[in-house]
Amino acid sequence: MKLALLGCGNVGSEVVRLMRTRGEELASRVGEPVEIVGIAVRRLDRDRSHLPVEKELFTTDALSLVKRPDVDIVVEVAGGIEPARTWITTALAEGKSVVTANKALLAEDGPALSAAAKAGGADLYYEAAAAAAIPLMRPLRESLHGDTINRVLGIVNGTTNYILSQMSQTGAAFEEALGEATELGYAEADPTADVDNYDAAAKAALIASLAFHTHIDLGEVYREGIRDVSAADIASAAAQGRVVKPLCIATREADGVSVRVHPAMIPTTHPLANVNGAYNAVFVEAESAGRLMFYGAGAGGTETASAVLGDIVAVARNKRGGITAFPPEAAYQDLPVKPIGEARTRYHVSLDVVDEPGVLARVAATFAHHGVSLATVHQSGQGDEARLVVVTHTAADKQLSDTVEELSQLTSVHNVASVMRVEGE
Ligand code: NAP
Repeated sequence: MKLALLGCGNVGSEVVRLMRTRGEELASRVGEPVEIVGIAVRRLDRDRSHLPVEKELFTTDALSLVKRPDVDIVVEVAGGIEPARTWITTALAEGKSVVTANKALLAEDGPALSAAAKAGGADLYYEAAAAAAIPLMRPLRESLHGDTINRVLGIVNGTTNYILSQMSQTGAAFEEALGEATELGYAEADPTADVDNYDAAAKAALIASLAFHTHIDLGEVYREGIRDVSAADIASAAAQGRVVKPLCIATREADGVSVRVHPAMIPTTHPLANVNGAYNAVFVEAESAGRLMFYGAGAGGTETASAVLGDIVAVARNKRGGITAFPPEAAYQDLPVKPIGEARTRYHVSLDVVDEPGVLARVAATFAHHGVSLATVHQSGQGDEARLVVVTHTAADKQLSDTVEELSQLTSVHNVASVMRVEGE
């Protein structure tokens, strides 16, 4: 079995190392050896002398490598949209099975890639794309195929989870925690993809598509980053027995599905509350299986390579058996994706208010005017420091945003300091 590797960075170099050091074992599991016949990279002159691989295997001509007639399997770990899309569609059209970790491309073009796999009679596996080492795609695609998944709640980005964990544990402000994450290598020099939740949104689209048998377009995922989470929000959450987490939330309701990524408060007793640092976890609620939790390393070269190797063994076995395993994406349910305004949850709202009699009544009346009922109200501080913290019962996002707009116009409200969703209760 001959394999072309596209990309030899964090993940690709570990794929090479593991394939070389575990070659015999992998051959036993597949039933024949799997040989790397070429490795495409951008810079031929980059020092890769630490890798247990012959220099002659490297090339900058990825497309020619994909098209080599002796190649059976293409592993894409270069990332980005193009030229990765061209490489993958070319491979699939030629009946070559593809393993990829490319969440960005899958979230943007999943259905077209699935169709290309089907048309080419090839496999398309992407276990590493959503949660790196944590087995999630196969459980959703296979193990839970006899069940109905109603809700998925996940922490799917290690950078944002590290930053919010640090803020909770040390009381640090966002910028300080981000600086520390960058210093330790948990955040990139440009942290936008992580802290603004673009990365999590792509993962949410993949997870929800599989969970609900419905293609979720990246543009249909509601996204808010974690930049606006303040030390005061974290402290207020802690005072109420909650913790702020970067969540991916996918819910099936009677009239459609909703998929969103944003920071939210969850009770400290929720299983996701203790997922700290760079760890990831995904909590699945299925009708018959009940509540399931998948936990582990959601990033890292070696960890991600573990999932890629699992996929390589699977597609190699399928090839030997002359089969493709399953339709890459089963979107038969085709449920409507609800706009954010219709998403229903609870809210934590902090208001800086004028310290005078009757303020509480005016604030409560504004919530009531929009049909939002209050669960708790807490007042702290005096004079210029007066603050009201309101936690609501479940309401639609539109009801809450209309309430906030009206609150911000009240003369007795200086400022709506923050609005955060409360989940998992
Ligand atoms: P990386 O370290 O930046 O490596 C990218 C590799 O692709 C490099 O070897 C680069 O070549 C090569 N490459 C890029 N553009 C190319 C081109 N046009 N032609 C030929 N080669 C090209 O990236 P990574 O962290 O390994 O991530 C790879 C993929 O895995 C991404 O899709 C990422 O989203 C996904 N993933 C990563 C992780 C993780 O923890 N890192 C986790 C889950 C999923 P040079 O070496 O010459 O620069």
